[in-house]
Amino acid sequence: MTKGNINVSVENIFPLIKKFLYSDHEIFLRELISNATDATLKLKHMTTVGDSKAEYGNPIIEVKIDKEGKKLHIIDQGLGMTAEEVEKYINQVAFSGAEEFLDKYKDSAKDSGIIGHFGLGFYSAFMVAEKVEIITKSHTGEPAAHWTCDGSPEFTLEPSDKTERGTEIILHIAEDSTEFLKESRIKELLTKYNKFMPVPIKFGTKEVNVALPEDAPKDAKPEKKTVDNIINNPNPAWTKQPTDLQDEDYKSFYRELYPMQFEEPLFNIHLNVDYPFNLTGILYFPKMTNDMNMQKDKIQLYQNQVFVTDNVEGIVPEFLTMLRGVIDSPDIPLNVSRSYLQADGAVKKISSYITRKVADKLKSLFNNNREDFEAKWNDIKIVIEYGMLSEEKFFEKADAFALYPTVDGKYYTYEELFNKIKANQTDKDDKLVILYASNTDAQHSYIEAAKAKGYEVLLLDSPIVSHLIQKLESTKENISFARVDGDHIDNLINKEETKISKLTDEQKTELETVLKDTIPSEKFMVQLEAMDSNASPFIITQPEFMRRMKEMQQTGGGGMFGMGNMPEMYNLVVNTNSDLVGEILNTKTKKKQERLINQSLDLARLSQGLLKGEELTNFVKRSYELLK
Ligand code: ADP
Ligand code: MG
Repeated sequence: MTKGNINVSVENIFPLIKKFLYSDHEIFLRELISNATDATLKLKHMTTVGDSKAEYGNPIIEVKIDKEGKKLHIIDQGLGMTAEEVEKYINQVAFSGAEEFLDKYKDSAKDSGIIGHFGLGFYSAFMVAEKVEIITKSHTGEPAAHWTCDGSPEFTLEPSDKTERGTEIILHIAEDSTEFLKESRIKELLTKYNKFMPVPIKFGTKEVNVALPEDAPKDAKPEKKTVDNIINNPNPAWTKQPTDLQDEDYKSFYRELYPMQFEEPLFNIHLNVDYPFNLTGILYFPKMTNDMNMQKDKIQLYQNQVFVTDNVEGIVPEFLTMLRGVIDSPDIPLNVSRSYLQADGAVKKISSYITRKVADKLKSLFNNNREDFEAKWNDIKIVIEYGMLSEEKFFEKADAFALYPTVDGKYYTYEELFNKIKANQTDKDDKLVILYASNTDAQHSYIEAAKAKGYEVLLLDSPIVSHLIQKLESTKENISFARVDGDHIDNLINKEETKISKLTDEQKTELETVLKDTIPSEKFMVQLEAMDSNASPFIITQPEFMRRMKEMQQTGGGGMFGMGNMPEMYNLVVNTNSDLVGEILNTKTKKKQERLINQSLDLARLSQGLLKGEELTNFVKRSYELLK
């Protein structure tokens, strides 16, 4: 028997491990299964290249709970260790760099989650175990070894009678960690971390039906048999070549990833690169809702098929965190804080690669099947629009596939839209005016008025659209967006027709006085306009800039902080050429004049959806009176 001291320079490393790793102590199982996997894959490689004479076979890893003995076993059929190797790998090497690490991060480690992702490897077993044993037999056939350590720096190493190749790790679960003796808890961990690891992992057994022979009688009961319960899929879709996968394979992998998700993904993007960094993965576009925060944190990050985290912030550009799927890269340094990660050169490259891949995929979907792309637009636009706002590179690429839908269900690219409207939708400075609506019901009459003049009206209804418009206006030359109800259509698009007013200047001044007597000036800015005589007498509009400021305030950003609440302020456009307005002017009794003005104003408010509550009730009452 050998006795000795584990070669660590920090005397009391074990209390430190427990303390520092406490918040994430469940990762011990991931670490031990990773080691078992490494040992198996190493052996596979050695037998392939002829460095081992062992029979590789079909090795599995087994996780076993011994409730009475309060032990957890992790057993592999990998390459094993000789006694010398245990001395070398377990006793000496394991802690190199640990002291330095703990010293460097002793203040920040706990809160930044650093250790949580830091592979302390084998020794993380001591987070949950008061004693750990290793029984291992090397593939070389040398005698097996038995190592024991009770959490002090002392260990024992003696021969063992183990005959099968491989390593068994036995954890004597500590009093404060008995949750890890529960089957449900271990199952949860295996599903979370090991679901796609490359070596089959057995946890218990299960009963399955044995297939009946063809000629079996109809009422024959299928026989049961007990088989290993393998908890993982060692060959997940993302590890395969895109050419080997059908659409159905991608969909079934999606169901494997999100068993509780019943809606199918819209499409997927297979990531596959090995230079200048290594990255594989599959991203899915799910149907998006307009709530951007709801759908975050669904992408899972793996390293060599080991689950690491579902927080990919800093690795995937923000706008793509709304997607789902898997990213697997051994090149992402996870032993650093997130803010450092964002500044890391390799990670920046990964992030821009992903952005480019997503843009390329969208472009090819658009080119290959535009109809289908248009049909999906409403479900994906939030990601694309958000991407256009937040990533300059993506904005440039998106020009090729970003769509601008019209109220009539047509979809234009920016270029198509531009060509369509450049001839007749300009203002007096020759600026292109892009008309849009945000709600076809609420803005119905304005949309109709614009369409009657032959103009195109876009339907832009995502929550961030005011930001996007701002961005487009500042990027594209000589354009401006105008919501259809921003002003009377003839003011939005100026064709320089001289409008002839039926009223003289004196009459206009008189009309203005009359109107201002009745209409509250803090709510409406009265504006006289000479329009077609059959256009509405009163039209309520809200100036574009005013409404946009308000919207941007609500959706945040845009430097709108500290502006306070803007008051609701509307324009009241009064058509001086309408007969009704002429009648208002000519009515001699003050009372009747007031009634005409109020009724017209209410009708204008009604068509903007601004008449509510008591005012609406009074309006309806008054209208019935008039009918009598
Ligand atoms: P790492 O896995 O990062 O090398 P660990 O602390 O997890 O660090 O493990 C230290 C070493 O112990 C491994 O590199 C390996 O050589 C050896 N080892 C651990 N577990 C096993 C195992 N199940 N079979 C064979 N060797 C093992
Ligand atoms: Mg390890």
